[in-house]
Amino acid sequence: MLIFNKKSDLSAFLSPLLNQNKSIGFVPTMGALHQGHLSLLKKSLLENDVTVMSIFVNPTQFNNTEDLDKYPRTLERDVQIMQDLSNNIIVYAPEVEDIYEGYTASESFDYDGLENQMEGKHRPGHFDGVGTIVKRLFEIVKPSKAYFGEKDFQQLQIVKKLVSKYNISVEIIGCPIHREANGLAMSSRNERLSEPAREKAAIIYQILNSAKEIFKRNSVVETHQFVENEFKKHPEFQLEYFEIAEETTLLPISEKESNKKYRGFIAIFIENIRLIDNISLN
Ligand code: AMP
Repeated sequence: MLIFNKKSDLSAFLSPLLNQNKSIGFVPTMGALHQGHLSLLKKSLLENDVTVMSIFVNPTQFNNTEDLDKYPRTLERDVQIMQDLSNNIIVYAPEVEDIYEGYTASESFDYDGLENQMEGKHRPGHFDGVGTIVKRLFEIVKPSKAYFGEKDFQQLQIVKKLVSKYNISVEIIGCPIHREANGLAMSSRNERLSEPAREKAAIIYQILNSAKEIFKRNSVVETHQFVENEFKKHPEFQLEYFEIAEETTLLPISEKESNKKYRGFIAIFIENIRLIDNISLN
C-alpha cells in the first residue's frame, strides 16, 4: 500500500495512470476509520482501476475549536485497517500545510441555498470549508468517481451542486448509511462516547424509524411533535434540530405534496458529542 503526504508526490504518481486512461475512484475522509468508511472504499475498489483514500482532518470545516482538537486522529490504525482490506489502496494523508500552504481559510461558495439549511444553519461556515477541501482534493486526485456517504446527506447534495456549478468532471456516488448492530449510524465521533451513551444513542434511529411510520399517516407538524416529545423523555439527549425536508432542495416543509421525496434530518447531543443522522420518509 502506498502512502503519500505531499500532493506533488501523489500527483506525480497518478499522472501516468491518468494518461493511460485508468479510472480513479476517490474516497475523501477525516480518518478514524470505521465500517461506514470501508463500505465506500469497497465500492470504489470494485468500480475503478485505482482507489485513492484521503485522510485529512480539515480545519476549515470545523466551527468549534474543541470539536477540531478532540477529533480522533488514528492514522497508524487506519493504515492497518486499509492494509487488511486491500493492498491496492493509495492513501493521501497530508499535513495542513500541504493543502493550505500557509493560508488556512475557506473560499466562499454559493450552493443555491442548500448551505442555508440544517448543518449550514447550525455550523456557520461549515460548507465553505467542505467545498474548499473537496474542490482542492478533486484538483489533486482528478478522480473519475468520488464516493460520499448518505450519513452526511446534506454534504452529499452540496458536493453534487459543487461539481455541477464548477463543471468538475467527476461522478459523485452516494452510498447508504452504515449502522452499528443497534442501529446507531457509524461515526468517528461515536468513539468519544462512553459505552452506556453509545448504547443509549441507539434510540436516535429507533425514533427516526417511528417518525417515518407517523409521517405516513399524520401531518408534518404532528411528526415534529412526536420526535420532540420522544426526546423529552430522555433528558440525556439535547435535540439541536429535527427537520423534514425535500430531498433535492433540502427546504423544510410544513405540508406534504405528492410526488416529492422527503427525509427526516436530526442533530442531537449526548455527553456533549454532536451526532447527526437522517432517514428517507417516503
Ligand atoms: P468523515 O470521515 O466523517 O468525513 O466521512 C468520510 C465519508 O464517509 C463521508 O462521505 C461520510 O458521509 C462517509 N460516512 C461516514 N460515516 C458513514 C456511515 N455510517 N455510513 C456511510 N458513509 C459514512
